[in-house]
This record gives sequence, C-alpha cells and structure tokens, in this order.
Amino acid sequence: MSDDPTIFEQIIDGDIPGRIVYETETVAAFLDANPLAPGHTLVVPKEPYERLDELPDDVAADVWAAVQELTPRIEDAVDADATTVGVNNGPAAGQEVPHVHVHVVPRFEGDGGGPIHAVAGSRPNLSDAEMDEIAADIEASD
Ligand code: 5GP
Repeated sequence: MSDDPTIFEQIIDGDIPGRIVYETETVAAFLDANPLAPGHTLVVPKEPYERLDELPDDVAADVWAAVQELTPRIEDAVDADATTVGVNNGPAAGQEVPHVHVHVVPRFEGDGGGPIHAVAGSRPNLSDAEMDEIAADIEASD
C-alpha cells in the first residue's frame, strides 16, 4: 500500500466526486467514470490493497458478497441481459489503479463484446506434461 490516497480512497472519502451506490464498513461500490456499458460499477475494499492476494480473508469475503448482492441490482437498473465480472490483477493484466477493484460490466444481447476468453493474448499450445507440471506447482504452492 502506498502512502498517497488512491483515486478510489478519495472517492470513498468524499474528496472527489463519485456516484457511490453501495457502502459498508469495509466495502464501497461506485459507477466507473469511463463506463464500458451503462451501469459499469467498481466494487472495492475501502482499504487500498493493491492485489487480490493482499486482501485479508474477511475483506475478500465482504467484497465478493457485495459483488453477488450488487450484480442483480445493477442488471435490473439498466435492464441488462447478463454481466461480465472481472479483476485486472496487476499492471500486466491492465490494472491502472493500484487499489483492488472488481469490475461489474452489464452485458446486452448483441452488444458486440466478447467473453473473458478474449482478454489474453494468443493461446499457448501446452503438452499434457506441461499442463500436469503447472497443476502440480499450483497444488503444491502455499
Ligand atoms: P483498471 O484498469 O485499473 O482495472 O480500471 C480502473 C478503472 O477505474 C477504469 O475503468 C476507469 O474508468 C476507472 N476510473 C479511473 N479514474 C476514475 C475516477 O476518478 N472515478 C471513477 N468513478 N472511476 C475511475
């Protein structure tokens, strides 16, 4: 965590304007200022953890509970057919604001967007042995 307040802390603190739609002791949600779709909402822990793995378990649970609660409310508000929910977890994944945030992006039939499968680069051609090794490394890590 850096000492300077992130843009999201400034919104939560009321220091800059933001359309806050949800707030608890640990979590806030507000409309994205540059929405990918009407109703595009960011769900954030109030504390400025940078990456998902830094979230304490209870805060992570609170963030996910907020995502679950808000998703149907957001869909209803903009009459969406679905939502894409995702996190840019680190700069290489496109994270620009170093404060964990879950994007809830309303989706509409025929909106021209793609699935989450479209976000990565070209697909790797992995052998079974390589897949086994990756799975073993993940399982064994702590
Ligand atoms: P990231 O690329 O870090 O996953 O996404 C950051 C998001 O924050 C972007 O979608 C961007 O539009 C949004 N954003 C950046 N600055 C502001 C701001 O000042 N207010 C609000 N509401 N959203 C912002």
